[in-house]
Amino acid sequence: MDYISTRGEAPCLSFTDALIAGLAQDGGLYLPEAYPRLSERQISDFAGLPYAAAAEAIIAPFVGGALDRKALRTAIDAAYARFDHAAVTPLTQIGDNLFLLELFHGPTLAFKDLAMQLLGRLMPQALAARRKRATILAATSGDTGAAAIAAFRNVAEVDLFILYPKGRISEVQRRQMTTVAADNVHVVAIDGTFDDAQALVKALFANKRLRDEFALSGVNSINWARLVAQTVYYFVSAVALGAPRRPISFAVPTGNFGDVLAGWIAKRMGLPVERLVIATNANNILARALATGRYEIGAVQATQSPSMDIQVSSNFERLLFEAYQRDAAAIRRLMSALQHEGVLRIDSGPLAAIRTDFDAVRIGETETTEEIARVWREAQKLIDPHTAVGVGAARAGLKVRPQVPMVVLATAHPAKFPAAVEAATGVVPQLPPRLVDLFTRDERFETVANDQAQLAAYMRARLDASKRAAS
Ligand SMILES: *Cc1c(COP(=O)(O)O)cnc(C)c1O
Repeated sequence: MDYISTRGEAPCLSFTDALIAGLAQDGGLYLPEAYPRLSERQISDFAGLPYAAAAEAIIAPFVGGALDRKALRTAIDAAYARFDHAAVTPLTQIGDNLFLLELFHGPTLAFKDLAMQLLGRLMPQALAARRKRATILAATSGDTGAAAIAAFRNVAEVDLFILYPKGRISEVQRRQMTTVAADNVHVVAIDGTFDDAQALVKALFANKRLRDEFALSGVNSINWARLVAQTVYYFVSAVALGAPRRPISFAVPTGNFGDVLAGWIAKRMGLPVERLVIATNANNILARALATGRYEIGAVQATQSPSMDIQVSSNFERLLFEAYQRDAAAIRRLMSALQHEGVLRIDSGPLAAIRTDFDAVRIGETETTEEIARVWREAQKLIDPHTAVGVGAARAGLKVRPQVPMVVLATAHPAKFPAAVEAATGVVPQLPPRLVDLFTRDERFETVANDQAQLAAYMRARLDASKRAAS
């Protein structure tokens, strides 16, 4: 299986090369040249399988010959053995035809673990086979950083630098990063916002000299391998509710558009997905784009669901590429307009294609709080604010199609956002026992100015120090 860029001007890569590259050289995103198609029989056979076995069957066709099957299975088994729940992603019912898919039973309590734990196994293998090392550099608004650290700590082939905006993430999120003592993990507080941190990362990647010097690699949600890992739980949950005999809808709390796009890929592979409901908070660029065809960048607003406080949903480019029937020249034109004018206009044909699969619903701050309270009152479940945005959007979807089961992706554990949950319910959500000492552990981090040269100097010093320690 080869991977092609949405902008059509980068070399085709194998699964493992696309895994290491992250972003394509032409600024585009990688997609498979074709989607593997599963038969009804193959899909219904997932019923009752352990999560790891279903994951192997779904992921293997995307890997093709790039990795031997046994190595893939070993990586998958190890990745999902670290989850707290036997089902890995359990389903619970919270209303008529309304279900929660709990994606927060991994090491850092957010859905990012589902893909990152697998990347933390596949990437070192791929690097070792090429006798390469890599420096993973990522900015985080909270959850990606912790998940990457949990997945790559003490991995010999990788140094990991995580930038977070100083003072702008929750204490649980910060401590999940700063209390990990591992020589290859470098947590950096940037004096600035998340957008500043993200811009620094992009600037370093765009600087060819630094990119080569550090052998930079990316693990944010534009990395194709993350999407593949996320298609698995769509299959597993839909089959548990009667697919492929019966269509299922999903409501997905959305920021960078990675998670919900994984659902669309599952549909392309043959899963009968009725609707994909994009759930957005006040940062509703996607809801506006679906309604009007204008994808227009606004100012980021801070909300109770910070992991969705994003204006540019990078993975949307992949959907546009498909909606434009893989016309890379059209995508180059659209992305250039977005970069230069802050807006792109989706033509009527592609917009209609997108609307046949997706709905988009915006849930405001008051509704988010009310939804946390309602689910607590009606189903005695504490949900986090991201999940609450999903539940609010799901209810809107169920009004249109009450007979189709609706699965909400519960993307974070309520104890990651205790203030919002307590404000809505009066109840303080508890961390799992393995994390109860989080608040007494020592923290390690460095503060670096919002400046490319200073960041590069800091990284060079840290890498030199760890080289000396290793020799
Ligand atoms: C990252 C994240 C999201 C958004 O997921 P995307 O794939 O970026 O759309 C939603 N909820 C939580 C808790 C997250 O960490």
